[in-house]
Amino acid sequence: MNEYDFDLVIVGAGPAGSSAAFAASSEGVSVALLEKEEAVAETVRTSGVTWIEDAKEFGIPEACYNPISNYSFCSPTKSVTISDEKPKAVVLDVRKTYRHLAEEAQNSGTKLFVNTNVIEVLTDNNKPVGVIAKVSESQVKFNAKMVIDCSGFQSVVVKSLGLAEQWGRFGAGAEYEVKAENVQSDTWWLMVGQEYSPAGYAWIFPVSKDTVRIGVGVGKPESDVDPTERLDKLIEEKKGPIKDLGDITKIEFHYGLIPNDGLSRKTVYDNLILVGDSAGQANPLVLEGIRYAIRFGRVAGRTAANAIKSGDTTQKSLEPYEKNWKKAIESKINSASKIQNRWIGLTDEEWEKELEVISELSADEFLDFIRADFSVSSIVRLATHHPKLAVRQLFNIVKGSQ
Ligand SMILES: Cc1cc2nc3c(=O)[nH]c(=O)nc-3n(C[C@H](O)[C@H](O)[C@H](O)COP(=O)(O)OP(=O)(O)OC[C@H]3O[C@@H](n4cnc5c(N)ncnc54)[C@H](O)[C@@H]3O)c2cc1C
Repeated sequence: MNEYDFDLVIVGAGPAGSSAAFAASSEGVSVALLEKEEAVAETVRTSGVTWIEDAKEFGIPEACYNPISNYSFCSPTKSVTISDEKPKAVVLDVRKTYRHLAEEAQNSGTKLFVNTNVIEVLTDNNKPVGVIAKVSESQVKFNAKMVIDCSGFQSVVVKSLGLAEQWGRFGAGAEYEVKAENVQSDTWWLMVGQEYSPAGYAWIFPVSKDTVRIGVGVGKPESDVDPTERLDKLIEEKKGPIKDLGDITKIEFHYGLIPNDGLSRKTVYDNLILVGDSAGQANPLVLEGIRYAIRFGRVAGRTAANAIKSGDTTQKSLEPYEKNWKKAIESKINSASKIQNRWIGLTDEEWEKELEVISELSADEFLDFIRADFSVSSIVRLATHHPKLAVRQLFNIVKGSQ
């Protein structure tokens, strides 16, 4: 069996893995980044919405995204559009972005191995000390002082060590990237209500002047609706704003799962860190995880590199990573969960009222709300001083969970 020695092995070259690899190899440790597909982002499993300020902070080139400044929301009976002067959201060219992140890691010294499917974790006294991967018909051994599990929803490392079970609550999403006749490239649509998704929402996210992603997300186990079937039906019947797209031609299908079990997993063990979807780092309200995967991937990579350099890779020395990310997002994710629980139970009539409340929000308030980026002070302000009673009530729910 072929065998390699590295300081750090990272499993999965999604945004979490490439970002962890970039940070760790920038700190001077040797890093192997293992990806089971033939190329990074060969399969796209995400809609790719994120925020311009995060994209800029992470150094993602402008050529990787399409800016959005109009946020439209509709139920079967009502629609609202909140417009902003400047774009704050973006829809990523997912392939280009993920490949850019992987190249950054390689440029800082990471060795990327594609077509390398991790099938087993090597242990010494129950602590991970590397992995075995299947490469074509043979097996390759990667020895390491530490492992980072960035394998996304599947969480292959932590599951094979018996440290976590499959996620119980999750979102399932299906999406087509399509060429469309009429695209408003600065306007996204979120579509809510029973016909779009009984436990979730549907969306239109523009990728360019002539291309959009149309998708459906469904909460599991809350609903047994198959998102692909529902998506096909919505497109066939040209529901709501899908009709305004005119003629459409499907060019690619995307399907993915995203954990929604809250922050239930421990994310550091002796010689092991979990990042991104394997750690459950996602906003449950709109199932958003890319910026967390990049941000906390970098923190994890730095933490791992420092631990390796100091010769102490015990759980205790890795705990600053868990403290860092929990401090940054725990209360926000909990607040978003409260709103999600409220939204999952809404009837179409109640959605109509909810959209009236949402239409009272300014663009900044609306974006802070859906991206769960509210500071405690802004929530208190909205819950006590917003001129509209319904908005105050909405933010009182959020406030109660802080
Ligand atoms: C339908 C849908 C829509 C979404 N939309 C958005 C959105 O608009 N905005 C947003 O921010 N987030 C969105 N998300 C969530 C977002 O995609 C994830 O939070 C993000 O991709 C997490 O990154 P990651 O690196 O942890 O995992 P992933 O992106 O899943 O990457 C994991 C990588 O590990 C590899 N891998 C898995 N197993 C192995 C193995 N055994 N050996 C080697 N490699 C392996 C995979 O091939 C993959 O490349 C969406 C999710 C879904 C399902």
